[in-house]
Amino acid sequence: MNPIEKPLRTDVLGVPVDCVTMAGALDFAEKLVDGGAKGQYILAINPEKVMALLKDDLLREAFSKAALLIPDGIGVVWAMRRLHGLEAVRVPGSELMPNLCELAARKGYGIFLFGSKEEVSRGAAEKLVQQYPGLKIAGRANGYLKEEEMPGLVEQINASGAKILFVALGSPRQEKWIQRWRPQLNVGICQGIGGTLDTIVGTVKRAPPLFCRLGLEWFYRLVSDPRRAKRQVSLPVFAWKVLLAKVK
Ligand code: UDP
Repeated sequence: MNPIEKPLRTDVLGVPVDCVTMAGALDFAEKLVDGGAKGQYILAINPEKVMALLKDDLLREAFSKAALLIPDGIGVVWAMRRLHGLEAVRVPGSELMPNLCELAARKGYGIFLFGSKEEVSRGAAEKLVQQYPGLKIAGRANGYLKEEEMPGLVEQINASGAKILFVALGSPRQEKWIQRWRPQLNVGICQGIGGTLDTIVGTVKRAPPLFCRLGLEWFYRLVSDPRRAKRQVSLPVFAWKVLLAKVK
């Protein structure tokens, strides 16, 4: 079999990220699953994560081994364009996830949902099945299990026969979990999806389409949940570093 062509991997301030479109990401995921991949993973890159990864070599290493690193935040897209002149576009993880569910329903891949509160996980599973008729939820587990329950969970995931595993523990917990358990996982691909299940059930609202179109989703999230402000102080520092890197 021909090796699967990978999207162009570039970097932002030394943090890897792929220049890929939504269609390209879906095509790549499909080829991985159909090619019999095992324990491959897709992670999202946004400015907040770039700043966190600059301070954490081990986490950066975990990210760099991902099969696909999607440009999830507009800041990262801006940096890819500015630093490398690439025609980068945003591929939000929260949109890739339902698109992967649509693919799974079409191809008959089972999916496993791991993470978020029990009622959120249950509600999201119900909504996804309604939205993508034929989608097989091979299993699910909430994200508040104890460490000693993890080997059992991995057995449950493998026994479910799921081809795609969504891990919704927030960052960097979900990336660390994937890195720790992937050698034992039989699923084809995992995606770290943060709070996507919360947005599917509606406990957390996504920004209205106008904000998304203008690249202001981050602003909407900041205003609607001011507790996130602490996390977003890294944004101006990120922008400043990109501008400096460009000058250099
Ligand atoms: N979560 C979890 N277990 C934990 C901590 C968090 O399952 O021990 C879930 C939480 O319920 C929420 C998600 O992880 O569904 C975190 O969402 P957030 O929006 O903070 O993640 P981000 O996308 O910002 O990384």
